[in-house]
Order: sequence, then C-alpha cells, then structure tokens
Amino acid sequence: MLNDFVTWAPRVVLALALPVFLSLFFQTASYGRHTKAGARGLPARLGWMLMEAPSVFAFAWAWTSGPEFGTPLVTVLGLTWLLHYVQRTFVFASLMRDQGRVMPASTMVMAIVFNLLNSIPNGMTLRDRRFDVWVGLGLTLFLVGFAMNLHADHVLRTLRRPGETGYSIPQGGLYTWVSSPNYLGEMLEWLGFAIAAQTLPAVAFFVFTCANLVPRAWSNHAWYRAKFPDYPTGRRALIPRVW
Ligand code: NDP
Repeated sequence: MLNDFVTWAPRVVLALALPVFLSLFFQTASYGRHTKAGARGLPARLGWMLMEAPSVFAFAWAWTSGPEFGTPLVTVLGLTWLLHYVQRTFVFASLMRDQGRVMPASTMVMAIVFNLLNSIPNGMTLRDRRFDVWVGLGLTLFLVGFAMNLHADHVLRTLRRPGETGYSIPQGGLYTWVSSPNYLGEMLEWLGFAIAAQTLPAVAFFVFTCANLVPRAWSNHAWYRAKFPDYPTGRRALIPRVW
C-alpha cells in the first residue's frame, strides 16, 4: 500500500500542477497579504509550523525508512531537504512578524495534504549514485537558492518592527530587480534538488512549486504596484529584466 502511494502521489502532484497554475491567476491563495476578509484559522506563526511540520517529520520518517538510507548521496539529499524545512518550519515561523495575522484553516488543510503527498514519496525514493556533475550542479543551485530565499525573507522581516503589521517597499539585494526574490530562491532550490536527486517526486515538487509561486509572484507584484504609486518601475515580478 505504501509502495502504491509512493507511485501515485507524485503523479497526482504533477497532474494538479497545470490546473493549480491557471486557477491561481484568478484566485490568489488566501494567506498573508492576500488573506480573504473574514477568514478563520490559527495564528499565522502556529499555522506555518503545523502545515510545514509534515515536511520535516513525515519526510524524516520516509527518508530513514527508505531502502538506501545511510548511503552517501541519500544522506546528503535528505540533509539538504531537512536544512530547508527545519529552517522554514521552526526558524522562519518563529521569527516572522505575524501580529494579529491568521493562517486560514482551508489554506492550512490544503498545505498539509500537499506536504504529505510530497514529502513521503520524496523521502522514500531517494537513491544512491556516484557524485557526478549533476549532483554538483544540483546541490550548488540548491544552496544558491537557499541563500537567496533566506536573505529575501530576512529583508521582509526587517521592514517591520516587533508588533507592526503594515507593508512597505522592500529595498536592496535582489529586490532591486524583482518583487518576490524569496520565491525565485525557493524555485531554484527545488530545481537544484530535482537535478541532484533525479527522482519523479523531486521533479514533481519543482514543477508544482513553480505552478504555485509564479502566479503568486504576479499577484504580489500587481499588489505592490496598486498599493505604492512610487513603486520602482523597473522592478519585475520574478525574473530580473524579463517578467
Ligand atoms: P511573502 O513574501 O508574502 O511574506 C513573507 C513574510 O514577510 C510574511 O510574514 C509577510 O507578512 C512579510 N511581508 C511580505 N511583504 C512585506 C512587506 N512589503 N512589508 C512588510 N512585511 C512584508 O511570502 P509567503 O508568506 O508567500 O512565503 C513565505 C516563505 O515561504 C517564502 O520564503 C516562500 O518562498 C515560501 N513558500 C514556499 C512555497 C512552496 O511551494 N515551496 C509556497 C509558499 C511559500 P504577512 O504574512 O503579514 O503578509
């Protein structure tokens, strides 16, 4: 039964990517600045921790239960995944300035279901290979994306003093060129992971991450331009100088 799950879950993730991508241009996911009025849920910090927790704990269980756990590449890839998700679940969520913010229950449920569909197959299907050029390229991309994502999230966090909830225009670093460098970094991370791991779940995760974050980057960009008349005109949504 678990083997069947590991086989069909990434196919479901891949099949959902296109409809999710298209629908998110019309209906932005309800959280953060795009939260629907009257949405009910948990405090945002707790919501982030709960919804991302399967990507730490279910993944760790699946990774350590996999047939090649303990081999060199499976060890490196598992630690790479956990580096991202321990940061996201515990560090990012602990540091966020979420005064009075709610994580809507519907968004949380969808995220938990997705994270289970995604993290268990990713953990179980990791396989050992020799450290070839693809592993080197993939891990390098992952680390570059991770650094971009960390820095961009840090810039946003420091726009608010503790207790503040408002929004201002982020400046510096990759914000000079794009409105959502945190998403660009995230997409690079999972592209790198997919190149290094070369498994169907890793490819499906990268495709779904793009399907999720490209429309949201567009919504964020449109939101900034509508809210701030002095928003930098040369700044793009996600890809410097292009889009
Ligand atoms: P946002 O950029 O919308 O927000 C990140 C944090 O910064 C929030 O606490 C937000 O507050 C705050 N913030 C955002 N813009 C401003 C501003 N202009 N002024 C002041 N504070 C601001 O990112 P997300 O919440 O969508 O995502 C958070 C992280 O999770 C990112 O690193 C992203 O890459 C990752 N992520 C990954 C996904 C994946 O598919 N792998 C999916 C979604 C997110 P508030 O919440 O109050 O708006």
